[in-house]
Amino acid sequence: MKVSEREPGDQPDQTRCERLVAYMLDAAFVLDQQGKIVHGNKLAEVLVASPLSALIGQRLSDLLHPADRDVALLLLRKSEGFVRNIRIQRKDGSLVWTDLMATRADPYLVVVVRDVTEQKRLEETIHRMACYDDLTGLPNQRFLIEQINALAESRPHVLLVIGLDRFKEINAAFGRRCGDLLLEQIASRLKEVVEKSALLARLEGDRFAALFPEGTEAEDAVQVAKAILSSLETSFSVEGLPVWVRASIGISLFPEQAGGALLRCADLALHAAKKSAVGYVLYSPACDPQTPLQLELMGDLARAIETDQLFLVYQPKIDLKTGQVVGVEALVRWQHPQYELIPPSEFLLPAEQTGLIHPLTLWVLKRALGDCQAWHQAGVKINIAVNLSPRNLQDPKFPDDVAHLLSEHGVAASFLELEIPERGLREYRLLEPLARLSKIGVKIVIDDFGYSVFGTLRGFPVDQIKIDKVFINDMAVDYDSAVVARSTIELGHTFHLSVVAEGVEDRETMDRLTDLGCDAAQGYHLSEPLSAEALAQWLRERA
Ligand code: C2E
Ligand code: CA
Ligand code: CA
Repeated sequence: MKVSEREPGDQPDQTRCERLVAYMLDAAFVLDQQGKIVHGNKLAEVLVASPLSALIGQRLSDLLHPADRDVALLLLRKSEGFVRNIRIQRKDGSLVWTDLMATRADPYLVVVVRDVTEQKRLEETIHRMACYDDLTGLPNQRFLIEQINALAESRPHVLLVIGLDRFKEINAAFGRRCGDLLLEQIASRLKEVVEKSALLARLEGDRFAALFPEGTEAEDAVQVAKAILSSLETSFSVEGLPVWVRASIGISLFPEQAGGALLRCADLALHAAKKSAVGYVLYSPACDPQTPLQLELMGDLARAIETDQLFLVYQPKIDLKTGQVVGVEALVRWQHPQYELIPPSEFLLPAEQTGLIHPLTLWVLKRALGDCQAWHQAGVKINIAVNLSPRNLQDPKFPDDVAHLLSEHGVAASFLELEIPERGLREYRLLEPLARLSKIGVKIVIDDFGYSVFGTLRGFPVDQIKIDKVFINDMAVDYDSAVVARSTIELGHTFHLSVVAEGVEDRETMDRLTDLGCDAAQGYHLSEPLSAEALAQWLRERA
């Protein structure tokens, strides 16, 4: 007979309670009105790992983990009911997870204690499987979102999303298994950089994320983003072969971007970062192709082009054999009337998406050719390099526009260099417009070179390649980068191409490049990008 089923007036004595718990299939205690143990069955002794004699007279609540005591006491005082996930603390310190069920047997209380430790472990395993990534052992996207949702709304926090560039190609070239090995290595390198300062998670595909604790400022996150990018510049090893991985990083901030949108904004910024030269982008409305703010900024850009808010800076390209300035590269800047100076990484992607890249490039060409004409008239016969977006080549009128602008400014076509990012060459339909441009007599330069094999260039009318600054920056300290630089120079010369190194930041690198036979160099060591006036001054001083 169950204690609760007793007849009215049928007072249970202690012996009857003892008999009752003796047959139970779970651990059970009999407590007096003060909550002290007066009896327990064999299973209770096993559960607590203590002989009954040592338990008699103790409060059951004293056997519980301090954090669970309050909840359990509520139940014990109510004298009826059920409470889950209560930890019993054994003398040796070990914990047993239990569910407690209390039944009144006046004046006693019978408490059944079910050991759910195994079940709890299983639940934890399932939770881990649901919240952690199998491959890297890192928390996954679901876990990250839980953490973002739990953040206090009152304090600033920062999220970085790190995307690997062209990881699909690596997977295709080396196979899935090697791709996985590489991801594991990348995960541990990221751990080294961010584990102390942020929660690192693996998102779907080739993305990772770092969530910074509340109170982190944007500037700290930018420093970490830079550290991550530079940590990935050293090659990885897959089946004994060196593999280079490049990443881009999107950064979003709270409260600037509301809580739930943090991940979406970081993803949009990542998308923009993939097209930028710096490798990381802080989310701004310009990253978002859908917001009215972005449309507003693009409206501003349209006006900016018409009203000369854009301006150009020029960075000299120097012949490494003669030391002569052979040309300058035009780099666009935007002085927005309400914001600080906006770098091209912030507005080029939305300009590409909205088609504004067409008037923008024509504006840059016009201004650059105008300045070049002035230098030529002053007797400084240097080349002018202008950056193109692959989208410019999709405009069938573009080659004619270039020819027209050249003749309008009286600059011979051979002085104009058009720089096209290497990623643009993956589209074979760009071959025809490039061939038309090449026919005019302008030089075709492949920018940001070094990630793919020379086979990509087959059939394209290329005059010059520019080794990406990632490889040049640390070729003095990193063997693998030095190998990329050397083999690019050698192979470039085999194909009769002139080879330029960009991002030359010190004397040592410049000397090394000269020894390797590199044709020309550009970088902060030689000169930062300069305004047209500052450039004229710089040229005079050099002469
Ligand atoms: P890019 O063509 O690779 O240009 C080189 C970038 O590296 C420039 O950044 C330049 O300021 C920077 N740089 C120069 N020397 C060094 C150095 O020694 N070390 C390092 N770490 N960096 C150096 P910027 O001006 O912010 O331009 C970023 C990118 O924006 C350019 O990369 C180019 O892809 C694009 N861009 C700039 N102007 C235009 C333009 O008029 N039209 C188009 N379509 N793209 C442009
Ligand atoms: Ca360039
Ligand atoms: Ca470049």
